[in-house]
This record gives sequence, C-alpha cells and structure tokens, in this order.
Amino acid sequence: MSQNQKALFIIFGGTGDLAYRKLYPALYKLYKENYLNENFAVIGTARREWSDDYYQEIVTDAIDDIKVSDQHAEEFASHFRYQSHNVKDTENYRTLLHLANTLDEEYEIGGNRVFYLSMSPSFFGTITSHLREEGLVTENGFNRVIIEKPFGTEYENSNELNNEILESFDEEQIYRIDHYLGKEMVQSLMTLRFGNPLIKHLWNQKFISNMQVTLAEDIGVEDRGAYYEQSGALRDMGQNHILQIVSLLLMDEPQSYHSEDVTKEKVNALKNLKLLDSQNIKDKFVRGQYTTSPDAPGILDYLSENEVNEGSIVETFIAGKVESENEQWANTPVYIRTGKRMKGKSTRVDVVFKNDESSLFDADELSENVLTIHIGPTEGLALQLNSKQVGHVFNTEPISLDYQIENSIPDDYEKLILNALQGDKTSFVHWEEVAESWRYIDAIRTAWEADPSDLFKYPVNTNGPKEAYELLEKENHHWFWE
Ligand code: NAD
Repeated sequence: MSQNQKALFIIFGGTGDLAYRKLYPALYKLYKENYLNENFAVIGTARREWSDDYYQEIVTDAIDDIKVSDQHAEEFASHFRYQSHNVKDTENYRTLLHLANTLDEEYEIGGNRVFYLSMSPSFFGTITSHLREEGLVTENGFNRVIIEKPFGTEYENSNELNNEILESFDEEQIYRIDHYLGKEMVQSLMTLRFGNPLIKHLWNQKFISNMQVTLAEDIGVEDRGAYYEQSGALRDMGQNHILQIVSLLLMDEPQSYHSEDVTKEKVNALKNLKLLDSQNIKDKFVRGQYTTSPDAPGILDYLSENEVNEGSIVETFIAGKVESENEQWANTPVYIRTGKRMKGKSTRVDVVFKNDESSLFDADELSENVLTIHIGPTEGLALQLNSKQVGHVFNTEPISLDYQIENSIPDDYEKLILNALQGDKTSFVHWEEVAESWRYIDAIRTAWEADPSDLFKYPVNTNGPKEAYELLEKENHHWFWE
C-alpha cells in the first residue's frame, strides 16, 4: 500500500514562530520520507503581506539544516502558497476557497483538508465557523482541524471554546495537540506497561511506592513574560503535559490501541484524581518563584523579567502530590514537579518500587528498585537494581541497567502531523480529557487564590524551594532526581 498521503494544509498563522520552527521542518521530513510527495499543497495565511516567492523563501530557510539538497528543498517549497488574510474578514475566506480549490485540482488532492490553527485560541471559533459557512469544508475528502494549546485557561472558557468549534466540526474531526504525546518515550509508556509481564504485574499500589513526574527546564520565561503572567507553571505545564503523562501512568489497560479505547481509560484515570481544596492544598502542593542566586550572577529573578508585573505572585514552579481514588493506587501517590530555571533540563518519570521484608538484608542495606523513563532531552530507560558488590564481600550495591535510544527519532510534530493525516487520534487529546484536567487544575487554582501567602522563592539553578523536598520527606519519600 502506498504511504503517500494526499492533503491540502491550510496553516493559519503561517508567518508565526511555531510554523517556522516546527511545522515546516515536520512537513519537510514527511516529504523526505515519501509520506507527502506530489499530492500535497500548503496555503499559509496570516496578516502580513507576503508574496508566494517570499513565503517559499521563508519555508526553504526553515528547513535549511535538514534539507537533502537545494533542489529538493525548492521542490518541496514549490508546493507552498501564501495568502494575506485577516481571520475576522469574511471576504478573505472566499479568496481562500478559490485558492484551495485550485490547488486541490492542480495537485489531485481529492478534497482532503487539514486546517492547522497555529494562532491564538481566541480566533478558533471565528476561523472554524467561517471555514464551514464559506464552504471550505469539502464533501469528497476528510476535513480535520488541528489546534494548539493553550486550550482555555480554566474549565469554563475552555468549554465555551470547545462549543464554538463544535458548531462547525465534530469531535471526530478535531485534533488537539499536546506535543508531549508525540514524544517517543511517552508513546512507549503503554508498551512498557502492558507489553512486559515483568512490569505489568507489578504496576499497582502493592509493589509501587510512588511515581515521580519531572518536567524541569533550565531556562527562564525568556520573551514570554506577558503570556506567562496569564498562565504560570500550573496551567502552562500542569493541565496538559503533566496530567497527560499522569493519565498514562495510572490508566487501566485499554481494550485496544484505538483512540476510543485509549481515551476511555485515560479519561477514567483523570476522573479518579482526588480533587484538592483550601483545607488540604498546603499539605499537597507547593508553588515557587525563581529568584537570584549568588552562585549564578547575571541571571535575573522572575520579577525582573520583561513584561512581568511588579510584585507578581505567578508561580514558575510547582510540586504536588497527585492521588487517585482508584483502589489499585491507594497510598501510591504520583509526585509531580515542573519549573523554570531549575538545575537542568530533564523530562522523566521515576517509578519507585517498595522494598520487601527480607531475612537476608536489613531494610537500609537495599536501595529502592527504580525504573526511570527518560523522555527528554535523551530518550531511554534505566532500571536501578541491587547487586552484590564485586569481590570478596557480600555487601550490596545499587547498579543501573541503561538503555538509550540511539536511532534518530522523528520529531514530535512530524509524528503527530502524520497521525493526523492517517486519521489516528490515539496521540491527540479528547475533549473529555481536557475537561477532566481543568476540573483538577481549577480546584488547585481556586484554593491558591483563596490564600496567596504560600509562594516560596527558590534560587535559580536549583530544583525548587525546600518545601518541595519536605513534601516527600514527611512521607519518607525523596525525589529520585535531585
Ligand atoms: P506567533 O505569535 O508567532 O504567530 C501568530 C500568527 O498568527 C502570526 O502568523 C500572525 O500573523 C497570525 N495572526 C495574528 N492575528 C491574526 C489575524 N487577526 N488574522 C490573521 N492572522 C493573524 O505565535 P506562535 O508561537 O506561532 O503560536 C501559535 C499558536 O501555537 C499559539 O496558540 C501558541 O500558544 C501555540 N503554541 C506555540 C508554541 C511555540 O513553540 N511557538 C508551542 C505550543 C503552542
């Protein structure tokens, strides 16, 4: 069967950062691998007045590092057209319709359309209703809408946003991107959990002491101060990437890999999360904000970053204890942690197993067995076990079995765009997952808003305030990655 996908992409926000850094390189890689060949075209739209030639130059520039040859890059870019377009202006959609139909014919695309909304979500409703009303949705092919985070800032407005889109497209046609779901080791979680009897049968509260999800960034807010002031770490990373990973860790085995079955189990896992309130928030969640450190001269504190409000109490770090109502996870928390200006850049899951009673060893002689899933920047697995020290003694020592993926891994966006072309929604986020995630996050936000006194400062280049360590220490746990 041919792997060639036929599609016309219409990218709203074609002059933007995401399109340049991620979408054009991803499309080029798919072109290079023959997933896209003759039967595809791209219309980039945005407000700026660009010509087709200039747009094609930009696209060529975006793939400069990965191109096979100048000629190959030019061939690829020749499939791109540009239309200057204010998304609020109905007239523009008519011109767009004409261009779309012309390209559909020229490249024999057969009516398949992918509308990529790489723009502020405040425009999603306007764009989708115009697409439907002005006839850009075809009868003869598939019509899919890809949208980017942030999907609202709380349940209420995300529900409104969703309803606006649903007026023009069905849930089936909506592909909500969480690019962490395109990461190799996140995609590997189900295989790891359900494809290995060795792991599958131990994956419950009887054998697992706790799990730790860390999304650490070593950079600050950079030029995104204004955005971050509206978001903070909880919304920026917690509602989406972290809870997506948590749902994959806690869900029951799905009936199949089909998106309906996977979604069902992920939604159940999210529904089972114990909601927090102002009574227990201080016990279970810590928030922090980075400040200067004598060890890192020249690195600004959050309050001195561009476009950050004076005296802001926006959190740049969170750590929390996430618990499930599901009995198989009774007393086995998932600790989560994310922040800016942490010690290093690392995305990882550490699964800490319980130590057994033993007549041979004292409890403190054995290290914990820990399975680490390295999600980024390197991808792989590590398993910490106890072994006998080599030599004439019978002491124990921890050893680590390591596996690091060395093959080149397709980029997150490359995988997700291909999945969208193939109509495979397993690695996209269903509305119910978004809704359940906001339910959990909103409860924390509301509890924090009731009492803003507990924002702890942490020096840059550290893994958060001491309170984030105490969160685990009071339960005789500790962060495996320090
Ligand atoms: P950007 O500001 O660089 O680009 C926005 C685009 O929208 C530009 O092309 C601009 O011309 C266009 N635009 C704005 N108003 C318009 C209007 N009225 N009519 C027509 N075009 C208009 O933003 P970005 O960084 O490319 O991000 C796009 C979306 O993706 C945002 O929702 C963002 O939150 C999300 N996102 C971005 C990244 C990233 O790495 N950049 C990562 C995750 C999610």
